[in-house]
Amino acid sequence: MSKVVNVAVVGYGGMGGWHTKTIAEVPEVKLVGVYDILSERNKVAESAGIHAYASFEELLTDENVDVVTVAIPNDQHKDVCIKAMEAGKLVICEKPVTMSTEVLEEIIAASVRTGSVFTVHQNRRWDEDFRVAEKIVKSGELGKVYSIQSRVHGSRGIPGDWRNTKAQGGGMVLDWGVHLLDQMNMMMGEMPVSVYATLSNVTNEEVDDGFTAVFKFKNDMEFTVEVGTSNFINLPRWYVLGLNGTAVIRDWDITGEIVVAVCAEGHDAVPIVTAAGLTKTMAPRTPETIKTMELPRVDTDIKDYYRNIAKVVNGEEKQIVTHDQQRELMKLMEAIFESAEGNKVVYF
Ligand code: NAD
Repeated sequence: MSKVVNVAVVGYGGMGGWHTKTIAEVPEVKLVGVYDILSERNKVAESAGIHAYASFEELLTDENVDVVTVAIPNDQHKDVCIKAMEAGKLVICEKPVTMSTEVLEEIIAASVRTGSVFTVHQNRRWDEDFRVAEKIVKSGELGKVYSIQSRVHGSRGIPGDWRNTKAQGGGMVLDWGVHLLDQMNMMMGEMPVSVYATLSNVTNEEVDDGFTAVFKFKNDMEFTVEVGTSNFINLPRWYVLGLNGTAVIRDWDITGEIVVAVCAEGHDAVPIVTAAGLTKTMAPRTPETIKTMELPRVDTDIKDYYRNIAKVVNGEEKQIVTHDQQRELMKLMEAIFESAEGNKVVYF
C-alpha cells in the first residue's frame, strides 16, 4: 500500500501558507512542519497549530520528512534546494526556480548528483481558464488557429516587497511571466522560433512592472504573452483567433464566448457609416452567417499536483514538471530580457 508522504515547507509567507493549507486537503500527503527564517513567522505557524522547526538544519535532519517545499524569495532558492536534495529529500521549488540558466543548471546538477527528485510548482497548469483555452485550441472548432493572446492585467503595480528588487528576482517577467510562458509551452508542445518583447517601467524603475512578448512558431502561429500592472481596464485573459472563428475568455471566472462562421459572408455587407466616412471591411457579420456558443468548462483540481508528488515518492509516477521544461522556461525568460534590452527579435 502507498505510504502517506510527509512534507515540510520552508518559508511561511504568502505562498508557504498556501502550501500548508493545500497539503492539509490532500490525503496522500501530510504536513509535518514549517521553517521560516523569521521567528515571528514561526510563531504565527505555531499559533495555527503547525509544528515549526527551530532551524533549517533541524528540518533537514528529520528523517520523517520526505518532501521539502521551498517557498521563499527567488534569490534564496538555490542554496535551500541544494541542501535539501543533499539531505535526501524530494524538493519542490516555487517558481521561478532561479533568475538564470546558469543557476538552474547548478540545481539540476545537484539533483542528478544526489539522486533526489527536483521539481517546480508550476501550479497555473491547473487554472481552468488555461485548460478551457487549450481545449478550444485543440478542438479545431476555430479552424487553423493563427493567433493566441494570453494576458493578465491589474492596476496595483508590483507588490511592495522583494518583488520590487532585481537582486531578489523581482519583476513581472519572473513573477507572472513564468506562469503564462509555462502555459504557452503546454499548449504549443514545442519551442517558438523567435520572440520580440518590450518591458514596462510605469511604477518601478529597478525591475519590469509588466511586459509584452510576441512569440512566432514554426507554423506561422503568433502567441502574445502580456502582463500589465497599471491597467485600470483589463483586456481579456485569453483571445484566440482561428480562420473560422474567435474565442474570448474574459477572466478567471470563465466568462466569454466562441463565435464561428457557419457559412461564407456575401459581398453585399451593409457598410457602417460614421461621420467621417463608411466602411464595409469593418461591418458586422450578418447573424445567419455566424454561430455564438458558450465556452466549454473543464474539471481541474490543483490538488493533483501534490497527489503526483506522493506517487513520485512511492515510485508510482514520474514528476509532472520536468527539468527540461524548466530549462525551456528559463530560455524564454532570458530571451524576453535580451529582446527588450536590445530592441531586437531574438531567435531560439
Ligand atoms: P513572501 O515574502 O510572502 O514569503 C516569503 C517567506 O520566506 C517570508 O516569510 C520570509 O521570512 C521567508 N524566508 C526568506 N528567506 C528564507 C530562508 N532562507 N529560509 C526560510 N525562510 C525564508 O513571499 P511569497 O509570495 O510567499 O513568495 C515565495 C515564493 O513563492 C517565491 O518564489 C514566489 O515567486 C513564489 N510564489 C508562487 C506563487 C504561485 O502561484 N506559484 C504565488 C506567489 C508566490
